[in-house]
Amino acid sequence: MHKIWQFASYNLWSLFSSPVGQEYWHCDMKRGFTKARKKEPQVKALLEQDNTAQRIGILAQKGVYEFHQNPPILYRKDAVEQVAEILQLSQESATVQARVTAILKKYRENPILLGKNIVKLIRGDEGYPKPILIKQGNYLFKLFAAIDCIFTEPDGTLHILDFKTGKSDFDRRQAFVYLLAACYLYPQQPAIASFYNLETGKASEDIKATNAQLQAIQSELTQIAKQHQQDLRRYRQNPACFAEVFPPNPGFACRYCAFNSICKFSVSEVSA
Ligand code: SF4
Repeated sequence: MHKIWQFASYNLWSLFSSPVGQEYWHCDMKRGFTKARKKEPQVKALLEQDNTAQRIGILAQKGVYEFHQNPPILYRKDAVEQVAEILQLSQESATVQARVTAILKKYRENPILLGKNIVKLIRGDEGYPKPILIKQGNYLFKLFAAIDCIFTEPDGTLHILDFKTGKSDFDRRQAFVYLLAACYLYPQQPAIASFYNLETGKASEDIKATNAQLQAIQSELTQIAKQHQQDLRRYRQNPACFAEVFPPNPGFACRYCAFNSICKFSVSEVSA
């Protein structure tokens, strides 16, 4: 069987469009840099440069994982120090140390998974999850969905829980991608999804999807996978048309964009 390059994921979806109400953040050129030009040394360096947020996310997930590897640790006075040591937190930057320590303390005060029937809890540093092969009509693509945690509710419903850190809002589209993945991975079981921010302690409502909604999500992801492959092909055939394939949207988003130092469309000051 030939190799399947076409893929979709929540991450790719979020590069295609912003959540409703945040359209001003969207710039397709960011997808171009991230996906089409990621191997260029300058782009690669920028992608690797500020990984503080990513590092905090990985260590926070690892912390939760470690607490639940050995739940009695949660009752120990030095639980946070113990887990911090396992995570080798002292080797991280001061910012990462401070924020992850606060996360560990908060989680120990309110260990939301304690007593739950945990089906899956990832360590956080496993890399890409195993893809799910999806066939929509004649079109075949891989769906990547990195599910942090699944536990079962007393009635047998699977509860997919996504841990967040930082300030970003919960995006329901991510929950829908997980619910679509769950219906392939656990076809016999009903599922719900929710988010929990380990830094703020904020939890989302439980999110459900009907079969019709899941079909719509699958169609959307199929379109995204197709469009993305087409765009990559067009760009590779003619790199000079980068800005046509991935149109820039200079404005508000440039200020926080990782590529503003190399993007010729970047605007540094935007009047309100
Ligand atoms: S700097 Fe502005 S125009 Fe350029 S990729 Fe970033 S957001 Fe888009």
